[in-house]
Amino acid sequence: MKKTSIVISILIMAFYQNVFAQNDKLNTLFNKDSIDKVIVNLTLEEKASLCVGNSNWKTQEIKRLGIPSVFMTDGPHGLRINEGFDMTKPSVKATCFPTASLVAATWNKDLVYKLGQALGDEASYHGVHLLLGPGVNIKRSPLGGRNFEYFSEDPILAGKLAASYINGVQSKGVGTSIKHFAANNQEFERMIMSSEVDERTLREIYFPAFEIAIKEAQPTSVMLAYNKLNGVYCTENEWLIKDILRKDFGFRGLCVSDWGAVNDRISGIKAGLDLQMPSDGGGNARKIVDAVKSGQLDEKQLDLVVKTNLELISKLTSTKNNKSTFDKEANHQLAKEIAIDGMVLLKNKNAILPIDKNKKQKVAVIGLFAKSPRFQGAGSSLVNPSRLESFYDAFSENKNLTITYADGYTKNGETNDTLINEAIAASKKSDITIVFAGLTDDYESEGIDRTFLEMPVGHNKLIEKLTNTSSKVIVVLQNGSPVTMPWLPKTSAVLEAYLGGQAGGSAIADVILGKANPSGKLAETFPQKVSHTPTFLSWQGENRKLSYNERIFVGYRYYDMKEIEPLFPFGYGLSYTNFKYSTMKLSNSSITDSDSLQIEVSVRNIGNYDGKEVAQLYVRDIQSNVIRPMKELKGFEKVALKKGEEKSVVFTLKPRDFQYYDTKYKAWKSESGQYEIMVGSSSRDIRLSAILNLTCNKKYYQEYNLSSTMKDITEHPIGAGFVNAIIQRTNARYAIDEKMSALEKDAAKKQRKMNEATLMELPLKKVILLSAGSIPESKIMDLLNSINNDIRAKTSK
Ligand code: BGC
Repeated sequence: MKKTSIVISILIMAFYQNVFAQNDKLNTLFNKDSIDKVIVNLTLEEKASLCVGNSNWKTQEIKRLGIPSVFMTDGPHGLRINEGFDMTKPSVKATCFPTASLVAATWNKDLVYKLGQALGDEASYHGVHLLLGPGVNIKRSPLGGRNFEYFSEDPILAGKLAASYINGVQSKGVGTSIKHFAANNQEFERMIMSSEVDERTLREIYFPAFEIAIKEAQPTSVMLAYNKLNGVYCTENEWLIKDILRKDFGFRGLCVSDWGAVNDRISGIKAGLDLQMPSDGGGNARKIVDAVKSGQLDEKQLDLVVKTNLELISKLTSTKNNKSTFDKEANHQLAKEIAIDGMVLLKNKNAILPIDKNKKQKVAVIGLFAKSPRFQGAGSSLVNPSRLESFYDAFSENKNLTITYADGYTKNGETNDTLINEAIAASKKSDITIVFAGLTDDYESEGIDRTFLEMPVGHNKLIEKLTNTSSKVIVVLQNGSPVTMPWLPKTSAVLEAYLGGQAGGSAIADVILGKANPSGKLAETFPQKVSHTPTFLSWQGENRKLSYNERIFVGYRYYDMKEIEPLFPFGYGLSYTNFKYSTMKLSNSSITDSDSLQIEVSVRNIGNYDGKEVAQLYVRDIQSNVIRPMKELKGFEKVALKKGEEKSVVFTLKPRDFQYYDTKYKAWKSESGQYEIMVGSSSRDIRLSAILNLTCNKKYYQEYNLSSTMKDITEHPIGAGFVNAIIQRTNARYAIDEKMSALEKDAAKKQRKMNEATLMELPLKKVILLSAGSIPESKIMDLLNSINNDIRAKTSK
């Protein structure tokens, strides 16, 4: 070989060695070096690709730099994951836990934490990094098609349970995605509808479940909803993402779009939407590249969302998150425990339940659901259960019972004379009749709202007929949200078993036979009829605008205020035992607006069964200048009590628990005065109450402008002086003097009163306009400056 060619070969080898060494370094760059350094090494195209999913369930991987994909899947009450994440393959078998309506009815934070842990284990076992749940949207109306997947009409209950769920899942190294932010409370036109909600209502009702979960559990991600909020898509709503989530709530995770919720990806990046899901085949990634190249999008803004994506990938794929194993049987038993804890006993006349399991009895079991249960909802949360129990099978194991079964209705909820006659014959042969009814699959689903509250005609007719011939009819309901019960007075007992998951069948059997004592309490109001519901006149909106006219009066807040008797109130649920509340102690009878308060009550089990009670704490501002609910849930504790046992329950109220959101000051604010502290067994069964005096020391300031009214500026002493002077001057012409007749005096008084009222309502701009030049704009501007300067000086201290 010639000398020159040897030299060239050496140079080429050196070059490639260098390249390989360089690539090796890059391959391991991710997770070894700072995310900022990784970003420096990304091409623009790679950055853009990281902001959009690369398939239905995966984020983009970048092998060159060792950046892996994150795998995600639904949630919330079990894993819905196609084998190998391949959409053409069926969903793997997973434990189907009860859906959120029932989970919320447990009011049991510890149990929900265990649910989270079990879900985390199953997710981790299947290689899922991120579980798409929990769903915490507020149940604005019982007609919401997806209510079965959401917790409650109350934000505190939903938020506390969500925090437990998230902490449970995340303790297993698996991420969560709390959803759907925000004001996504109906299915109708959810991809295009604008929820029109005032800020106070958002802050008090629709945000707090997210806020609590973020502050107490810091979920890995927040899923931004399909709808628009006040005209702007949630996925590109800067106020929602940057001001509310990041700044106000301190959210540090990833903002991901709901599947297909992105409208304009560039606006989304500017607003802070980190990840679009799912893949769109590359279109939006190309648009991002073009937008940076054309200057429409600043690359620094892109880097910010890329960074959040990389942080999420790093957190969820790091080797410390080893795959877990899970105990299938234990998870099935947990599903059963939750079902028992959340079933709500609505009626139990003459203590017909539980059925004496040791007595020989004839029981008619009627209704298809007894054999083929309705146990979960439909849509993205559909789980392929690892096994499925029926009530009929579990109940038949008790050899003391002679059971006669009849279908009662068809699969789609219809009935006919033959089915009814069979059912009546079975019932007539028996001592007790248990009838299973509820909502069939097509009644409630993601994507479709309900249009009425009634159960299928066949179910209602069957119950009606059975109650005509038997005086001992027990109704077991399987449904994801409230139904009307026209037959209620004629029944002996009603058990709301909700959508109880794969172990619901044996859970119901245990409750009916008294092997377990039901302890669920409604997390939502059951109305008597749809026209009683808060959204009856504004449900579903018009021309793609949905006005939340009922404002903060959602659920029990509405029924209380309107004095409407619900069918069953929020927080309600019976037990086989009874509880007595006594000795309510407040740590203080007077506090200030920066203090906390402890409330202690004793609860005793005074019945004949061991049981659990949910003690609920409500607060009412007695004399308020703004409209406020009659009571609001601020705390709850579930206590297990053996018969005869007594325990004390302690609640802590923080300053925020007394406050409302004042949009004028853009602040949470309480007013001085008396508050009623109530502890009860339901929202309509308050057992103990006490009065608390609250003194507000905190000062609230706002700056004023030409649109501020005279009344507004009286809040400041300089403004008050000015307004007073104007009123004096105007009323000088209507002075009352002793020489006037009674009639003249009265007329002057009326005139002075009207002047004052009119002046107070005048915006400062109009003061200038109507003063005929005597109060020029310069004078008002001087006044505004001196007030605002004083406010600035005070607030900067
Ligand atoms: C649902 C989400 C779900 C996602 C992925 C959407 O249609 O609204 O709740 O997580 O699909 O399946």
